[in-house]
Amino acid sequence: MAYLTLKNINKIYPNGFHAVHDFNLEIEKGEFIVFVGSSGCGKSTTLRMIAGLEDISNGDFLINGKRANELGPREREVAMVFQSYALYPQMTVYDNIAFGLTLQGVDEDVIEEKVKNTARILGLTDYLDRLPRALSGGQRQRVAIGRAIIRKVGIFLMDEPLSNLDAKQRVTMRSEIAQIHRETGATTIYVTHDQTEAMTLADRIVCMKDGYIQQVGTPKQLYFEPANVFVAGFIGEPPMNFARAVLKGGKISVGGVEFDLTKLGKDLKKYEGKEIVFGFRPEHAKLGKVANAYEVPTTVELTEMLGDNTNVYINIGEVPAILKIDPHDTPEVDSKITFSIPYENVYLFDGETELVIK
Ligand code: ADP
Repeated sequence: MAYLTLKNINKIYPNGFHAVHDFNLEIEKGEFIVFVGSSGCGKSTTLRMIAGLEDISNGDFLINGKRANELGPREREVAMVFQSYALYPQMTVYDNIAFGLTLQGVDEDVIEEKVKNTARILGLTDYLDRLPRALSGGQRQRVAIGRAIIRKVGIFLMDEPLSNLDAKQRVTMRSEIAQIHRETGATTIYVTHDQTEAMTLADRIVCMKDGYIQQVGTPKQLYFEPANVFVAGFIGEPPMNFARAVLKGGKISVGGVEFDLTKLGKDLKKYEGKEIVFGFRPEHAKLGKVANAYEVPTTVELTEMLGDNTNVYINIGEVPAILKIDPHDTPEVDSKITFSIPYENVYLFDGETELVIK
């Protein structure tokens, strides 16, 4: 039996807005689940329904197989970390972390041991006497996490916990969150709009759009086997390149460049005369010619040297695309190049439903 079960969960706000539609998910104990999607897709609403901070309009939320819809936040044994750290400014780090236990009237000695242990996990041992204002953003967020993990709760919920940090702190804190999860083994549900956070942290990702789950899977599954155009475009940076064209005689023409799709070994008969979405990832394109690949002649519009790679902006006919290549091979702007897209790296989607064609 799954630890947490969300069965046909819906949220309809009092103003009638239907924010979450038929959300179905089973979560195992100890899993790190990430809800990812653009702003407004229903991630926080779903998290808040799990936390007990928002009513569930329809559907069942089960903890260990028992209906928990009506339980209050405390009875659900959840701890939540928000974007804003919400620390008490006049209390030391020690007292901030200890606060929940102090309220519960836990023994001082027990509190001290737990605070010290939590501080050790979070690298805050040397800061216990400080006030929050004497800490960096990353350290404050660690205190907020400490306050949440010190209570041995079953479910650890995080809503965009890194969004107030600068880029460098975000990367550090991201790996720390992964480390904390390894150490505590707490079941974690983490909300972010950032696909990199989702890819690096998650055991499984739940990718959402407009209140609907688009796909649930491991980071690898979402990257290599996206279910539809949305997921394919959301996961990966820069995003997957797409071109739409009508299939004629097994071929499509993208702005005059022809792609013979019969080379891909897929059964495309039912798509004859219909629109197909052709996709490939920037990092799968190769400069020059390689075996078993489409060759595309083009002109370099712009290059961005990023250190570990270069993004090359080109057009396929009229359709803009990006190639991610080795920086040593960065071509001149305006130069004519040919690049190859290996057949095995091509994705096709139904132009109407936008679902992947297997
Ligand atoms: P996300 O976390 O993915 O950014 P939210 O779950 O916060 O998205 O919001 C999902 C949708 O529900 C948004 O369109 C938002 O405007 C709407 N929404 C959120 N809270 C309320 C509310 N209290 N009343 C009505 N609509 C709301």
